[in-house]
Amino acid sequence: MSLKLENVSYIYEKGTSQETAAIKNVDLEINKGEFVAIIGHTGSGKSTLIQHFNGLIFDKDFDLRKLRCKVGLVFQYPEHQLFEATVLKDVCFGPKNEGLSNEDAWIRAKEALKLVGIGEEMYEKSPFEMSGGQKRRVAIAGTLAMNPEILVLDEPTAGLDPEGRDKILQCISDLRENRGIGVVLVSHSMEDVANYADRIIVMNGGEVMYDDVAHKVFAHYRELEKVGLAAPQITYVMHELKKAGYNVDENIINLEEAKENILKCLGR
Ligand code: ADP
Ligand code: MG
Repeated sequence: MSLKLENVSYIYEKGTSQETAAIKNVDLEINKGEFVAIIGHTGSGKSTLIQHFNGLIFDKDFDLRKLRCKVGLVFQYPEHQLFEATVLKDVCFGPKNEGLSNEDAWIRAKEALKLVGIGEEMYEKSPFEMSGGQKRRVAIAGTLAMNPEILVLDEPTAGLDPEGRDKILQCISDLRENRGIGVVLVSHSMEDVANYADRIIVMNGGEVMYDDVAHKVFAHYRELEKVGLAAPQITYVMHELKKAGYNVDENIINLEEAKENILKCLGR
């Protein structure tokens, strides 16, 4: 399944003095199994945009039920929505709500918890006994238990320590590799985006400013800086090396490629 938005606009508080055009004439398509990142300054429309992906903001006569199952949306701070007494019960909630039997819901939930690296010893714990990173992974499991084809996550690493952050990113990347689930990741970290995403959509003032493969987007780093963004730090290092007379590729966006390129340039 691919996901297509055609000329989508959204206005909050229409007709009042608070009226805000949050997204304007957005055209984009997310293809099957793709890993797409969305970046943009605060208020640029990222959250509003991704809420259109599963029809949270949509025409009333649209068949939302089907779409909701195919596109799993993980909100910012999803752990705030955990409410059941145990981890397992919480992850079972969605599948049960979809009409699955207790047993089938358990199967789905256990599989989802395994995918996010939450072991059986945690099943009967209260979500409130867990670390911030664990809670968030439980919340993501709740969405995965619905078997989505595309997983959309709004800043899933916000507020986590480096360990919690790496675990979440690794888990998202594994889901994509091992299960072919498409991923749309809203992120503030240019490093994370450069390490994981194939394609980057840059939002600015509610409009799509760039939509291209990662290294091409970051080649516009001067323009990105004007809208409060940047290239990954390593890209700046490569530009400095180039200026200093080394024949490196200045459009490199991650450490792995940089290492290879610098060694090659040094003739090793
Ligand atoms: P981002 O996720 O990139 O920070 P948002 O989609 O949250 O951007 O916001 C886009 C614009 O819409 C901003 O100007 C924001 O203030 C406004 N906005 C977002 N949510 C609401 C809302 N519930 N009511 C009114 N305005 C909103
Ligand atoms: Mg947001």
